[in-house]
Amino acid sequence: MTLVYQSTRDENNKVTASQAILQGLATDGGLFTPLTTPQVDLDFDQLKDASYQEVAKLVLSAFLDDFTEEELDYCINNAYDSKFDTPVIAPVVKLGNQYNLELFHGSTIAFKDMALSILPYLLTTSAKKQGVDNKIVILTATSGDTGKAAMAGFADVPGTEIIVFYPKDGVSKIQELQMTTQVGDNTHVIAIDGNFDDAQTDVKRMFNDEDLRAKLLANKTQFSSANSMNVGRLVPQVVYYVYAYAQLVKSGDIQNGDKVNFTVPTGNFGNILAAYYAKAIGVPVGKLICASNENNVLTDFFTTGTYDKKRDFKVTTSPSMDILVSSNLERLIFHLLGNSAAKTKELMESLASAGEYTLTDADQDILNLFAAGFATEEETAAEIKRVYDQSNYIEDPHTAVASAVYTSYAERTGDNTPTVIASTASPYKFPRVAVAAVTGKDSGDDFKAVEELHELSGVAIPAAVNGLETAEVRHKTVVATADMQKAVEDYLGL
Ligand SMILES: *Cc1c(COP(=O)(O)O)cnc(C)c1O
Repeated sequence: MTLVYQSTRDENNKVTASQAILQGLATDGGLFTPLTTPQVDLDFDQLKDASYQEVAKLVLSAFLDDFTEEELDYCINNAYDSKFDTPVIAPVVKLGNQYNLELFHGSTIAFKDMALSILPYLLTTSAKKQGVDNKIVILTATSGDTGKAAMAGFADVPGTEIIVFYPKDGVSKIQELQMTTQVGDNTHVIAIDGNFDDAQTDVKRMFNDEDLRAKLLANKTQFSSANSMNVGRLVPQVVYYVYAYAQLVKSGDIQNGDKVNFTVPTGNFGNILAAYYAKAIGVPVGKLICASNENNVLTDFFTTGTYDKKRDFKVTTSPSMDILVSSNLERLIFHLLGNSAAKTKELMESLASAGEYTLTDADQDILNLFAAGFATEEETAAEIKRVYDQSNYIEDPHTAVASAVYTSYAERTGDNTPTVIASTASPYKFPRVAVAAVTGKDSGDDFKAVEELHELSGVAIPAAVNGLETAEVRHKTVVATADMQKAVEDYLGL
């Protein structure tokens, strides 16, 4: 029996894992979601000695059960290799009462590397399995981080090209250099003289342009997307929750069977949803603590049952969590409503038309599993300082949001269950914010802040940042927004 993935908005739209990965989003606008919980034999007395790759194989073979063993080995071994700066891939660091699960040891020093380093292999393998031998072209608009992480994942992967558009004046100096120095003959970076919305709008238009699609097919190419709703990004994120639990058993910090909490700094709800699936397959979880910044839609949702996006968008120091519509929440809603596509569709249509929905008849057991909170900008900076003073360790602002929410949750509830904090970025990705929180002074410049951060923390400057100032700039194309499609056709030789 293969695991069935169904669209959250149409009960007749059912596919296998590899079909879900190749399609990305369902054409009805829904998200492909597993209908049942796969059986996984989680024996932590054995798993405590397993490598990250071995845990990945166990979890992926359960969720992606139409892949062969050889196919999974190929994907896992190409993804989790020396691109990561530690063979452990995702280390667990004990800080006082909490355990920081460091998900930032990949090429772009943020947690998206955990999934984007394997997605290209899952995608090309899925295409082969479905008898598609077109070249896969990833087309994406980025406001800075996702585009870089996607490029790092797709660089030099056979059978793929990746084209990234970014707003010329809309990204930081470090972000721009990270993109324009990207290596790999199949990577293409283009600055546009518009903003992020202009880039995003025209990318969406190209995806839906029938003439362009026909032109691509005539050249044996097709577009695909690497966005966070793809099953090929969700499933690899389950792995590190299982791995973290095994590491805590190994270190003796917990006994096999003890409960742990996971606190996750949340934006699009992908990372914490993966923790939910980790619990579903048998990791002993007490609470899943959903941490938000001042864009606290999810805190309100978990405390009132109403999701209301009609509020001001706040720009914060944890930009990857500045989101008002958390797309992956739709999958949890689907499960909360007993896997009902009809009910889920109704709520999502209400969100689109009225800007809100209220949950009734939700599964109370699932709701009780979650706790939620948010941290203000001041609380986030204070948490970076508190953790530094206590442990000589500097958290990035996203991790600090989670850390602050957990600290106040523990005080409020008295819950002293060992708690893992999903640590989603290296402080070197946000050096000015991190340094200012500790010293109270702005460094004035990203690269100067990197030096100061190094002095304060003693942590080696990662390769992703080191040498960026002097690396060769390989991508220099700038186009007008109106010429984006022409640039794509030029690159692909159409
Ligand atoms: C993307 C991101 C998040 C949010 O993760 P979601 O899966 O979207 O909830 C948190 N922190 C960092 C650093 C990120 O890049």
